[in-house]
Formats: sequence, structure tokens, C-alpha cells
Amino acid sequence: MKIGIFGGVFDPIHFGHLQGGEGARVSLGLDKVLFTPSHIPPHKPKSYASSKDRIAMVNIALEENQNFICLDIEAKREGISYTIDTAKEIKRLYGENEYYFIIGQDTIPELPTWKDYKTLILLVKFVAIKRSDFSYTDPDITIIEYPTLPVSSTMIRERIKQGLSIKYLVPDGVLKYIQKHGLYM
Ligand code: ATP
Repeated sequence: MKIGIFGGVFDPIHFGHLQGGEGARVSLGLDKVLFTPSHIPPHKPKSYASSKDRIAMVNIALEENQNFICLDIEAKREGISYTIDTAKEIKRLYGENEYYFIIGQDTIPELPTWKDYKTLILLVKFVAIKRSDFSYTDPDITIIEYPTLPVSSTMIRERIKQGLSIKYLVPDGVLKYIQKHGLYM
């Protein structure tokens, strides 16, 4: 099988993430895309919603797509979520397959700072979703062209704080979850 791993904080998940996952699925012919919300992200100051809430929102967003699966292994492992540990664990769970790790194009420059990067690239092949505001490239990384909304989780959180609408920026179920639990206010 060809399996995509889409790591992120998903704080919250938005349509840009889903479009990126779909772009990777169709352009690489992936059988599954595994969304793996981090517990404690190594490269960000903190997460805003708990991993329980972020996982719940990812599950809601993926509900109607059989090719997309939410894995809660990083939350279960606790501590800082290093991709090297996640990649090894996914290999243990799913066995020998072709693994692709999906990132946004903005993440390309930070990859060499990831823990055990040299070992990591032996386990997964990195692919990057084109983002309109970025032009980073790397000879070893395939850039995936697929239309994605120029939104970020930061933008969504800021809009909520300012009382602005986020309708059609996140799936309706995610919007309802955010409202019900009073997240990001
Ligand atoms: P934040 O604004 O909090 O930094 P984010 O929206 O970038 O969050 P992450 O959960 O950090 O979301 O993203 C996971 C991955 O998804 C990252 O590699 C990021 O580059 C990519 N990504 C995020 N938004 C988009 C988008 N609109 N289009 C394509 N890729 C995206």
C-alpha cells in the first residue's frame, strides 16, 4: 500500500488541511491518509485546544471520507510528539508499505531540524503541498499542486477571538464543536 501521514497540530483542523490531504492522495495514488494530531508539538510554543478536543475535531472533519483516518497515537504516547517516533510506530502498526509524510510548503526549511531527520528520511518520503505565499523547494521533496484555501489555524483562532465568522473555512461539524465547547474565545 501507499500510505500518507499528515502530521500537524490541527488547532483547529481547517479546509486547507483537508484539501492538502486530498491533493496528496490523488497525486500520489495513496490508499490511506493518516492524520496524526500532535500531543505537544516540538516546533510551536504551545497548542491552544487540548489534544482531546483537537482529535475530536479531526475525527468530525474526516467522518465522511473512508480514505482519511485519524490516529491518536501521539496523544497516547504523551510528551513531545516527535515524527521519528510516530513514523516508527506507524510502521509497526501497518507494516511494510510506501510511506509519504505530507507537509505544507512553508515547513520545508525547518525539516532538517526535526529530531533524527537523517533516519526519518529512510522511513518516509517527504512531500509538500504547494502554498501560494511560499516558494521553498528542495530537490528531494515533491511539490504537490492542488487548490488549497489560504487559511491557517492561527487565522481561524484570531477570527474567533475577534468575533468574525469562520463558516466555510472549517467543516460545519468542526464549527459546531468549537461553539459548543467555547474553544479559542
Ligand atoms: P498554525 O497557523 O497554528 O501554524 P497551520 O494551519 O499551519 O497552523 P498545522 O496543524 O501546523 O496548521 O499544519 C499541519 C501542516 O499542514 C503543516 O505542514 C502546514 O504547512 C500544512 N498546512 C496548513 N494550512 C495549510 C493550507 N491552507 N494549505 C496547505 N497546507 C497547509
